[in-house]
Amino acid sequence: MRATIIHGPGDIRVENAPEPKITAATDAVIRTVATCVCGSDLWSYRGINPVTEPQPIGHEYVGIVEEVGNDVSTVRPGQFVIGSFIASDNTCPNCLAGYQTNCLHRDFPNGCQAEYIRIPLADGTLVAIPEQPGKELIPSLLALSDVMGTGWYAAKAAAVQPGSTAVVVGDGAVGLSGVIAAKELGAERIIAMSRHASRQKLALEFGATDIVTERGEEGIARVRALTNGVGADSVLECVGTQQSMQQALQSTRPGGSVGFVGMPHDVQIDGQQLFFSHVGLRGGPAPVRAYLPDLIERVLSGRINPGKVFDLTLSLDEVAEGYKAMDERRAIKALLRP
Ligand SMILES: [Zn+2]
Repeated sequence: MRATIIHGPGDIRVENAPEPKITAATDAVIRTVATCVCGSDLWSYRGINPVTEPQPIGHEYVGIVEEVGNDVSTVRPGQFVIGSFIASDNTCPNCLAGYQTNCLHRDFPNGCQAEYIRIPLADGTLVAIPEQPGKELIPSLLALSDVMGTGWYAAKAAAVQPGSTAVVVGDGAVGLSGVIAAKELGAERIIAMSRHASRQKLALEFGATDIVTERGEEGIARVRALTNGVGADSVLECVGTQQSMQQALQSTRPGGSVGFVGMPHDVQIDGQQLFFSHVGLRGGPAPVRAYLPDLIERVLSGRINPGKVFDLTLSLDEVAEGYKAMDERRAIKALLRP
C-alpha cells in the first residue's frame, strides 16, 4: 500500500509499505476514505519535534472497516467509521469520566496518512455511521476525528454557556472549529483573533461576531475594550505558544475560564499571576471520542459544516505539497484522498 513517511524536517515522502494486519483481538483494520494533515504534524515537519528515523505519520481518518479482530463487536467489515486520534477502551474510569484521551489503556494509531490503518481498541475508539455517508459529508466527518472534537473540548473546558462571551485565540482549523463549538454551545458574542482575511471570513461564517487582529498587549487591550473592560467569560486557546497563552489568560475575566488545546511548546505560567486572576484553567488532548456521537449527528443533520476548514484537497501522492502549503500558511488544512 501507499503510506506517508516522514524522514526528517521538511522531508515527507509517499512510499510502498506493508499493509497493516490485525495484531490483537481488539484491533480493526480500516481502508481510509480520507485523511489529512494536522497542525501538530507540522511540529515534526518543522524539526521542533525531533525525527531521528523515518516514521509513518498522520492520526486523523475516516474509512471503511476491512477486517476486525475476534473480540471486536461494535463495528464490522463494510461499515463507514470515524475514530479518535487516540485509541481508548471507553470502559476504564478515565473513559467513563469523559477523558478518553487519558484512557488507562490508551494507544496511538499512527501512520494514518496511508491507504490502510490498524486501529487498536476498535470497540472503544471507532464509531460507525448508520449508512454510507454522501461524498459531500466526508470532509466534515473527517474533521470530527480531531479538529472539530478539539474545538468542542476547548469550548467545554472554557465553560462556554448560553449567553456568554467567548474569545478564540488562534485561527487554524482548531480555532475555527472552536468558533463553531462556541456558537453551538450558545455563546452570544464570539470574538475571533485572526489576521488572515480568508480565515476571518470563515470565522464570521461559523458564527464569530467580532474579529480582533491585534496581538500581544494590544490584543489584550482590544479584547478587554470589547468586554466591559474586564475580559471574556470563556477563552479558547488553540495555539500553544507563550504569547497565545498570555493572550488567553489576560483576556479572561475574573471567574472566567480558559480551555487550552494548543499543544504547549515552551509555555510557562506564572503561579502568582494565575492565583490573583481568579481564572479557571483546563486543557489537554481533547477526548474527541466522548463527543463523536453528538457531533456526527450535528454533521449528518447539516447543522454544522466543519469540513469547510479543508481548503486544499490532494491525492495521497501529493501529501508533501499539503505539508508545504500548511507550513507556509497558504492552506488552513489539507485533505488527502488515498
Ligand atoms: Zn479507558
